[in-house]
Amino acid sequence: MSDQLKFPRPTLQAGEVLHGFKVLRVETLPAVRLTAYEIEHEKTGAKVLHLHSLDRENLYAIGFRTPPADSTGLPHILEHSVLAGSKKYPLKDVFKELMRSTLQTFINAFTYPDKTIYPVASQIKGDFFNLARVYTDLVLQPRLLKETFFQEGHHLEFAVPDDLSSSLTISGIVYNEMKGAYSSPDSLMYKAIQENLYPDSIYAFDAGGDPDVIPTLTYEHFCKFHRTYYSPSNARFFLYGDIPTTDHLAFLAEMLAGFKRVKVNSSIKSQKRLTKPRIIHSSYPVDKNESLNRKTSVNLAWMLSENADFENSLILEIISGLLVGSSASPLRKVLIDSGLGEDLTPVSGIEGDLKQLMFAVGLRNTDSTDAPNIEKLIFATLENIVSTGYDSDLIEGILHQIEFHGKEIVRGSYPYGITLMGNVFQTWLYDGDPLIGLDFPLLIEKIRKLWAADPQLFQKMTKQWFLDNRHRILAIMEPDPDFNENKEKEHQEKMARLKASFNDGELEKINVRAKELKKFQSSDDSPEAAATIPQLKISDIPCPVEIIPIQNVLLEGVPALEHNIFTNGIVYIDLVFDISHIPEELQPYLPLLGKITTGMGAAGFSYDEMAKRIALKMGGFGYDPGAGFSADAGSCWQKIFFSGAALYRNLPEALDIISDILCAGDLSNENRMYDLIAERKNNLQSAIVPSGHIFAKMAAGAALTLPGYRDEQWNGRTQLRFVQDIALNFPSVKRELAEKLAQLKAMIFSRDNLIINVTAEIDGLKLIGNNIARLLDKLRATANKQKQAPPPLPPVQAGIAVPTQVSYVARVMRAPAYIDPAAALLLVAAKELSSSYLYKHLRVQGGAYGGMSSYDPSLGLFSFLSYRDPHLVETLQVFRDAEIFFSQNEIDADEMRKAIVSTIGMLDKPQDPAGRGHIALMRSIAGITDGMRQKLREEILSATPQKLKEILSKYFSDAAGSSAVAVYSAQEKLDEANKQLEEKLVLEHLF
Ligand SMILES: [Zn+2]
Repeated sequence: MSDQLKFPRPTLQAGEVLHGFKVLRVETLPAVRLTAYEIEHEKTGAKVLHLHSLDRENLYAIGFRTPPADSTGLPHILEHSVLAGSKKYPLKDVFKELMRSTLQTFINAFTYPDKTIYPVASQIKGDFFNLARVYTDLVLQPRLLKETFFQEGHHLEFAVPDDLSSSLTISGIVYNEMKGAYSSPDSLMYKAIQENLYPDSIYAFDAGGDPDVIPTLTYEHFCKFHRTYYSPSNARFFLYGDIPTTDHLAFLAEMLAGFKRVKVNSSIKSQKRLTKPRIIHSSYPVDKNESLNRKTSVNLAWMLSENADFENSLILEIISGLLVGSSASPLRKVLIDSGLGEDLTPVSGIEGDLKQLMFAVGLRNTDSTDAPNIEKLIFATLENIVSTGYDSDLIEGILHQIEFHGKEIVRGSYPYGITLMGNVFQTWLYDGDPLIGLDFPLLIEKIRKLWAADPQLFQKMTKQWFLDNRHRILAIMEPDPDFNENKEKEHQEKMARLKASFNDGELEKINVRAKELKKFQSSDDSPEAAATIPQLKISDIPCPVEIIPIQNVLLEGVPALEHNIFTNGIVYIDLVFDISHIPEELQPYLPLLGKITTGMGAAGFSYDEMAKRIALKMGGFGYDPGAGFSADAGSCWQKIFFSGAALYRNLPEALDIISDILCAGDLSNENRMYDLIAERKNNLQSAIVPSGHIFAKMAAGAALTLPGYRDEQWNGRTQLRFVQDIALNFPSVKRELAEKLAQLKAMIFSRDNLIINVTAEIDGLKLIGNNIARLLDKLRATANKQKQAPPPLPPVQAGIAVPTQVSYVARVMRAPAYIDPAAALLLVAAKELSSSYLYKHLRVQGGAYGGMSSYDPSLGLFSFLSYRDPHLVETLQVFRDAEIFFSQNEIDADEMRKAIVSTIGMLDKPQDPAGRGHIALMRSIAGITDGMRQKLREEILSATPQKLKEILSKYFSDAAGSSAVAVYSAQEKLDEANKQLEEKLVLEHLF
């Protein structure tokens, strides 16, 4: 991702016809380094948009409008199913094959409330077109086997196979995935608001699927939906990257040959405006032992303007940022300071993925009796804003954020093309101008002009769209300890009634069909079928590792790493402080140190003034404590990272802000401190159900290594309980807390305890050199350091009860160092386990949403995990069986090749400039040299089935003694499991 200052010049003109495509429009967008082509396929009417750039990571995506007609989850089940083979590629799971046998940098499929999109990306042109070719064929001409529908959607089976007296159950991948989603308070909150704010539109339905409704979907409807909406005439092709437009058109012409134009009625109707506000009630599951006091969430939600009216949308987005976007936002501040609830609900803000925009704001951890007060307070605040106007610094801060994020080259877990695609579809899907949201400098200029012409612009819009807008709902979501039990009971009764309605012959038929499905699932694809997928040879993979520029320097005497990388005018800086000398009793406070120092006032500025300064001059400022092993596992590092970014022109002020935060922090505002703690507590709490497997892994890992122990202590349930305790007893512990934080600051924030990491082009690096003294001069010279003994690691065999309908199972083992001869093969093994053995046994046969394995040399852990899993005891057995299988069997050569390709694909994931600078820093901290990386890569590339078996049989038998198990699940499921398990789970309640 270099040299993006330039952009490709237009090669086609509007009106030109090429390969059966008509070029409708060509636009150059130099500020975002793009040339855009809007194109139509003459024969079918398929719409094509190419954003031509110099980025090597090309993206290809097919999108369809897929309006749901009910909550059977049809669009979602179809999204899963089209990837299960076509006539040309008759494999059971082509998606998985592509994922592991190509150098894709991104491959996925997304179901939205009104559209379905299938994107793939690669940095290698041949690989890119292979992926695009298979993907297009799957989507346009899938086989849609009945077995696939049963497997992905729903089917009946007996709780005990072949035992017709056992109870009848429903299984299916989407069915279980959605059962997980319907246990998550955040998704339930969002769903309740969406379906009630758009009651007469398609948004009243759940395109993902309601587990109660999914079983009513028939195979015939399923096939018909595909015929109706998955035609080129209803398709939008989004292309991004450096491949020339003409190459894309030649390719698409071949893909679309043979298709005719058909009439598709997929237009999405607007929700008509409601004239009266409504109140709605809903509930969510909580643990039976939990207190119900102050567990309600209250939201106010408005339907705003049409998404395609972009100027309006942008102003409303700015208003959303003004109202709730940062801790300086007046509405956020008033709500949190009111004490009516603990923090803002996770749905607070604007939602742009619907035909008409939606804005919601509310408080969680409140009582339903406070709902009218919350509503009143919101309106009083809005009235106040409308009459007095917004702080102009706050508006400037938001405009700066739009400029910063528009300029920044971001490639987190998604390619940059995905970000652009999201932006384009926001208007394109509703027949608006697809390019209107891309040229951010122009947009800011336009908004500035409107604002200059009418200084009351933002308050007038606030009046129109919020204060005077009667299309709104007050949504109250209350805790219900019987939620899951009632659901389960209802479900059991329904299944019993269903079973009673079948005669013996029909029951026998169900059993036979379930067995046939199992047989289909466990059979392997034929070698001829497998050979249809374009294959990458090991020799096609580049052998040398990519080297990230790194320069060791001293900045005012402080050791620093500099990375000269193209960042498009942004400086990234990490301040890395050592924390290995922090005594054990202070360790749990480290995440709070980060949260509180970055969130409080400083140097005479209140916390909201600080938030405003950050918004005006920086792209953000964050923190993260971390721990890991050195390359040889001979030692552990423990550090806290503070990371910020700023445009070159703002760097001096940004360094002043950082220095104020670290050196002149003010801990006196107790209310603010409490709010930050409550926010951290609530964020941890709501992360559990969506990432239960990660929490289970942390819980188990704590038994095995110091980095694993720290991970649990700082990010797992141990941290949640710690923060919960502080929040609960805040009045009596607040003094102690402030003292401990002050102690930590004195022990950590000093020059002799610091490494600086900077990523920018040469001009930015120079700017740092010239200005860093502004920060370093204020830091204390030395910190008080004493060596600490590591904490004892407790054994773990935990069953952690949480309110969920599915389980998350982790079995974790101690694993060797980065430079260990086994490391390369363990990386390959983890990939192979995830995409073959665990995939087959947990997902395909077990109905879990996911099963995976990972090897992390930094944490020193090898893990087996399951995600949204209907099973528990069986899953632990699958983990053990997997070990035995790989210790006793050699996988075939083709499997081996795929495992190697996907391991390399993982290591070669493209990174954005900030990510590259950060990775180089992490390697330097762990002492991982480019030589070691090269050696590891060569060992991966030369791995053989025989070596893999040898290493695994040794590793699994050595590691058997050092394993730990943790399961997050419902109490009843844990109790049930303990009746069968030899090694009992030690039961604990999270709340
Ligand atoms: Zn899904």
